[in-house]
Amino acid sequence: MSTNPSKGTALITGASSGIGAIYADRLARRGYDLILVARNRGRLDALAERLTTATGRSIEAVAADLNDKADLARIENILKTDASITLLVNNAGVGASKPLLDGDIDSLDSLISLNVTALTRLTYAAAPGFVARGGGTIINISSIVAISPEMLNGVYGGSKAFVLAFSQSLKHELADKGVRIQVVLPGATATEFWDVAGVPITHLPEAIVMTSEDLVDGALAGFDQGEFVTIPSLPNAADWDRYESARTGLAPNLSHKKPAERYGVAPRAAA
Ligand code: NAP
Repeated sequence: MSTNPSKGTALITGASSGIGAIYADRLARRGYDLILVARNRGRLDALAERLTTATGRSIEAVAADLNDKADLARIENILKTDASITLLVNNAGVGASKPLLDGDIDSLDSLISLNVTALTRLTYAAAPGFVARGGGTIINISSIVAISPEMLNGVYGGSKAFVLAFSQSLKHELADKGVRIQVVLPGATATEFWDVAGVPITHLPEAIVMTSEDLVDGALAGFDQGEFVTIPSLPNAADWDRYESARTGLAPNLSHKKPAERYGVAPRAAA
């Protein structure tokens, strides 16, 4: 039975396998009750049963296709109405590996729908309640391709860049309202993601592939250390800090009345 006092309920999307299933395990052991969301009911039920036995927490499995409007609305409604929810892990996502010219636009469209639209709608469903209750946490699973989109299909990279930029803006808007945001940028992680994306994991050099257990344990250690952006593989956190300060350093010069001098646009004579 559980020995940890409850930390409230964590709703985890994409909890039926890979990174999401490990988050479920680790968060239950940390004292969260869980709502597990994915399409595969059998897998969710098996995980819920295993974790209930192991941790004594209350664990509910909710089968939903987040690309289906009615299913997504059901999960949004849970986030809007269940005041026990203190943590949302936006983890469900799919990848794509083919270059643009070989890509299938309909599957890329559904990638955007899951990785971007569903994540956005779930965040919008959860955030007002967190603010009203004076606290809550959102963990968004992005990817290293958010800052290195040349590595895989560009639509996938673009979707994960959205998750990073959206998280930066959420932090900016919600930090002083008691809502904590963490965005996690995994590198290659040994999950079914690669089969779904069409590249067997065995095609990647072993030295760049992390286990999902190490990935989640690293991400949660980053969370415990108060990080906003966590890149579990990155050896030197100061590298990210430099990258980020170069980005924020541009801000005062990103909007001016006139084009920069190097463009040689002559001032127009007054009419
Ligand atoms: P995974 O094992 O394939 O997990 C993906 C999860 O999303 C599964 O639980 C899947 O469950 C769920 N899912 C897929 N489509 C869904 C839909 N339409 N509605 C609801 N749930 C859906 O892969 P993973 O590596 O753990 O991926 C988790 C996250 O990590 C993703 O956002 C991915 O982009 C990100 N990531 C992965 C890697 C990597 O190398 N593995 C690297 C960087 C970032 P069902 O099939 O049961 O629905």
